[in-house]
Amino acid sequence: MAHEQAFWPVECEQGEPDLLVCMSCLSEVFRRKVPMPDCPTCHGVSTYEAFTLKSIQEWGSEALIAKAVKAEAEVEPAPPQPGGFVGSDTAE
Ligand SMILES: [Zn+2]
Repeated sequence: MAHEQAFWPVECEQGEPDLLVCMSCLSEVFRRKVPMPDCPTCHGVSTYEAFTLKSIQEWGSEALIAKAVKAEAEVEPAPPQPGGFVGSDTAE
């Protein structure tokens, strides 16, 4: 029973709600991703909708809010920056 949970990445605009809550069981929340192929708790498919942390705090259960706060705090690995140009024109 050691299979890993896989996720679909979800694109969210900056400032848009990016916490995906399962509207079926209201007990799973992930940030900018949804579990595949279905919800690990209720096995609902396409049951996830995006909310802000503020919104979840207004209607979520304590357990859901705790999960949402944790998900929000998760730091994603930053995409590789195209910068980092190293000047090498020091030849004289
Ligand atoms: Zn669910």
